[in-house]
Amino acid sequence: MDIHILSLFPELFESFTSTSLIASAIQKQLLSVNIHNFRNYTTNKHNNVDDKPYGGGAGMVLMCEPLFNAVEDISQRNNNAEYPLIMLTPQGEPLNQRIVEELSQEKGLIMMAGRYEGFDERIRQGLKPREISIGDYILMGGELPAMVITEAIARLIPGVLGKYQSAEDESFNIEDNILEYPHYTRPPIYRGMAVPPVLISGNHAKIAKWRQEQAKINTRNNRPDLL
Ligand code: SAM
Repeated sequence: MDIHILSLFPELFESFTSTSLIASAIQKQLLSVNIHNFRNYTTNKHNNVDDKPYGGGAGMVLMCEPLFNAVEDISQRNNNAEYPLIMLTPQGEPLNQRIVEELSQEKGLIMMAGRYEGFDERIRQGLKPREISIGDYILMGGELPAMVITEAIARLIPGVLGKYQSAEDESFNIEDNILEYPHYTRPPIYRGMAVPPVLISGNHAKIAKWRQEQAKINTRNNRPDLL
């Protein structure tokens, strides 16, 4: 998966791309994460990427030119690969596991991380991105949302997760869309709280049944909207 992220703060991605499973996915060439500072795509004297809003009001608006230039350049450099273009914005469709699964099927992605008041509306109009939000709250920029999407996708790329981790048995699994069952590890009793005996019974059929029931209880208690 070939991911390109347009951001004014590339340094925010340094530890993200050099730590843990994302770093090893990059090393194994299962994933590439390319950060492009769209300030490098300005043509004005002071390399401005933002300007005051027409009609007045607070804040600055990201200008069309650097983003159009950056998206076009990245597409051309990748042999005009038709990578989906994503605009990170609180106004977009709320991210969920179904969208992550869908995006993970692509060869690559281009994501635009906004800042300030957000994007000039003509970036939506002209580039027709898919708009994605990571939740109903406002962050300072689209960098964290870009990392959230990258990490959620990376988990689904075969070979990225280690032998002891699995993407199949998690909450929001696409087939059943329910939450996961509870987990326990050693010791068997901690501060008077015991591990459910079924989990140490060695009876795999009973364990599977218990987990199914607990997953349903978890979902009913925490996210009844999923049922
Ligand atoms: N004025 C915008 C609004 O009210 O919709 C918010 C702009 S926000 C301060 C700056 C940038 O952060 C946005 O352009 C977007 O890229 C990113 N951002 C903030 N919250 C986000 C969220 N919940 N999901 C995705 N991106 C977000």
